[in-house]
Amino acid sequence: MIELRGVSRTVMSGSAPLTILHPLTMQIPKSQFIAIVGPSGSGKSTLLGLIAGLDAPTSGDVLVDGVNITQLDEDALARLRGEKIGFVFQFFHLIPSLTAYENVAVPMEIAGVADPRAHVQALLEEVGLTGRAHHYPSQLSGGEQQRVALARALANDPPIVLADEPTGNLDSTNGRHLMDLLRHINHARGTTIVLVTHDAELAAAADARLILRDGRVVEPL
Ligand code: ADP
Ligand code: MG
Repeated sequence: MIELRGVSRTVMSGSAPLTILHPLTMQIPKSQFIAIVGPSGSGKSTLLGLIAGLDAPTSGDVLVDGVNITQLDEDALARLRGEKIGFVFQFFHLIPSLTAYENVAVPMEIAGVADPRAHVQALLEEVGLTGRAHHYPSQLSGGEQQRVALARALANDPPIVLADEPTGNLDSTNGRHLMDLLRHINHARGTTIVLVTHDAELAAAADARLILRDGRVVEPL
């Protein structure tokens, strides 16, 4: 469960403070698939960054499975992210010098998994990339690269996946494929999924929606 209590973020824009997320209170229950929707600049990535503890809120508290992450130091935050959160980004962020297999293995190596081979293969199979394990990112299509990124996000079986416009760089067929995989993971593992998207059709397929505009929640119609 993710809980936000009066969470806001204000940054300095030149010499003037600018509130990019107004106080927000919400709960995302375990295993929910929620879509965050809103125009560019509405605060969607800011919200994900606060949930992940990548940015500190100006006010309020963020609780992840009951732990108030606003009180953790950088080491504890990094550990919490490693254990609890998988990330998927719009531009994949794979390591270009590593194969698909090696990219997926990286988080397991960081976590000290002794022999990750079977688990890496199982994840690549789950995202439909068994035959692509030894390809480099440059040898893969955008859709394939994003599926590698998803397998990597799942490497340590996190209870939460944060996906920031993961389909933003894919055609609609690959976008739908990725959405189907996210839904499959949500069902099969009970993973909580927070999906930022511009795509109303994808958002409609989520369990719940949060609509942002200018850093404030707009009530769904
Ligand atoms: P979205 O992901 O919905 O496109 P963001 O959360 O990235 O929006 O940004 C919300 C607004 O806050 C934007 O206008 C952006 O320019 C601004 N912003 C984000 N981070 C910072 C920062 N560190 N300093 C100044 N402005 C920022
Ligand atoms: Mg964004």
